[in-house]
Amino acid sequence: MRRLARCRADLIFGQHDSLRHYFSDGLLDAPAPRMNPNRRSTYLEPKKAFDDLYWMGTPSRSTWALTTSDGIILYDTQSVYDAEDVIVGGLQKLGIDPAKVKYVIVSHAHENEVGGAKLMQQRYGAHIVMGAGDWDLVNESVNGFPDGKPQRDIVAADGMKITLGDRTVTLYLMPGHTPGTISGIFQVHDHGKPLTVAYSGGTEFNFVNDVPHFDTYLASERKFAAIAAAAGATIILGNQSQFDGAALKLRTLADRKPGEPHPLDAGAAAVARYFKIEDECAQAVRLKLLARQKDASK
Ligand SMILES: [Zn+2]
Repeated sequence: MRRLARCRADLIFGQHDSLRHYFSDGLLDAPAPRMNPNRRSTYLEPKKAFDDLYWMGTPSRSTWALTTSDGIILYDTQSVYDAEDVIVGGLQKLGIDPAKVKYVIVSHAHENEVGGAKLMQQRYGAHIVMGAGDWDLVNESVNGFPDGKPQRDIVAADGMKITLGDRTVTLYLMPGHTPGTISGIFQVHDHGKPLTVAYSGGTEFNFVNDVPHFDTYLASERKFAAIAAAAGATIILGNQSQFDGAALKLRTLADRKPGEPHPLDAGAAAVARYFKIEDECAQAVRLKLLARQKDASK
């Protein structure tokens, strides 16, 4: 019960709560993004996470760069006001040329994941990959893109492979958090050892809170949990650091002793547990909604 109560607090009344009414199904638009008032204190040093995966972000938002033999696949793009400093500045600090970014996968089009898509597309010619429903969210937005919107580009399909050089990311449609949320499976290397990542595209329940939306969310969770297990994923990553602990864990890398596992290599059981907790949390809210419906019909 304590776990479910905690889920409710974290996932329903979390920081996204005020956005719930704006993004769901694209019915209403978001307020214009605001400048981060604490940019000096919230930006973190970018980090090399694996041999071929780099992290840039804030304590709550992650952007990942997967390096390949022919350029970079970027995963998620911060907010419109953070993108220049966090992504462009971050890549440069890491010694990586931002012009080498060939693909940008936007796992869902909320303001803290899609903000830098236009910049990467316009300045560096990167291809932007997004789910169909989230391209629609972008198109319908009135206030969310004060510097202009990314042009509609690649529409993600279930099982689509984004291949660049020697690396491939396989995408899976996972509607729920937004209509066009996409998750992905790819490999990284830890001192040469291959490890499989399950990248979860969206977590919180800041969508229309009714039973059909939770049914969609739950079906997606179960589908991707099975895909992650079949792929042998031992690492769960995403765009919000509070769920994968990336910002903190990557700061412990320097203290890692020889032979110790990578702090993000949580193991297959932990990856399965991640999806199970999301599943149970969603079930708990769905049941509460059903009870409310029943009370209302009395
Ligand atoms: Zn979101």
